[in-house]
Amino acid sequence: MDAHHARYPFFESARQAVGEAGVDLVTLIREGHPAVERGRERVQRALVAGTVEQASDQRVDARTEVLSYPIARVLVSLVDAPGAVEKYAASEATTAHERFVEEFERGRQSTLGGDPLTLDAVLREFDLASVVRSDGTDTDPTEYRVAVGTYLDLAPAGDDWRLVTRELADGWVTVTRRELYDLLERAVERRVADGLPLTVPEEIADPLAAVVSEVESALATATYPRSFDRVDPGSFPPCMQALLDRARSDEESLSAAGRFALVSFLGALGMDGEAATTLVGSADESLAYAADRLDGGLYPPPSCSTMQAYDVCIDPDDRCATIDHPLEYYAEALE
Ligand code: SF4
Repeated sequence: MDAHHARYPFFESARQAVGEAGVDLVTLIREGHPAVERGRERVQRALVAGTVEQASDQRVDARTEVLSYPIARVLVSLVDAPGAVEKYAASEATTAHERFVEEFERGRQSTLGGDPLTLDAVLREFDLASVVRSDGTDTDPTEYRVAVGTYLDLAPAGDDWRLVTRELADGWVTVTRRELYDLLERAVERRVADGLPLTVPEEIADPLAAVVSEVESALATATYPRSFDRVDPGSFPPCMQALLDRARSDEESLSAAGRFALVSFLGALGMDGEAATTLVGSADESLAYAADRLDGGLYPPPSCSTMQAYDVCIDPDDRCATIDHPLEYYAEALE
């Protein structure tokens, strides 16, 4: 099991490596292998912060990271929370997208070692042989052509992706490199969601009961107002004002946690994907993509303590000392 398997545990080669290593999940769980704790963190961070990145002070080795993925799939199947599977798959895909960009664009190596992944390798992984460089060369193209069937299969919702807005010739749709990454994110999301939720036998579910409760408690601790009669950006808490400004800026990009916090906050205000995308604008493509998939407050927005833990509690003011959740702040500011 190598660094690529650790960063992309949903790759077929990672699944094979786990199979060839003869790993027995029941034994891992019974013995409390570190992959169980990392699997818990994987699911919990996915559901409360929109990322599966490890906490920087708690790095595990490549083997543990790979093994945490099948355990996370079991855990998320056991968690009793609306939209858990969909949110988990979306968060795995968001993190993969960020890693793809790091490796394709910056040639950055994983902290776990190994060569940077190539775009061709990922296209092969998802059987996207129908994606070709539009200029027919191998030299750093900025546009690609995608077979229309593949495009329709993977394109997210949203006006920008509608086929009528696209250049279409001989059954091929032209996309930018950034858009190709969005399509790959979608392919990852599909791969991760495939087969979930699992049917988990008792011999696995029983020893994981306490871990599942821990995840559910982290989701349930957030108490906050749940309905609002209007959207007033002037009443947003300082963190959301700052995240909105960053999302609209061409110069700054949001962390996965910041993107998740802002999108889930807007969803909790009752905004749909179109309204959220209009409010945010399209400077941050990943955020616009996430907002496009917003489903009316499906994902609970993070509490102030979670925002602090993920470094997205920004410029707290006097009112912040009296509340525990950004939505509580908003409800008070609206009065
Ligand atoms: S205390 Fe809460 S509402 Fe205030 S800035 Fe921090 S996260 Fe936002």
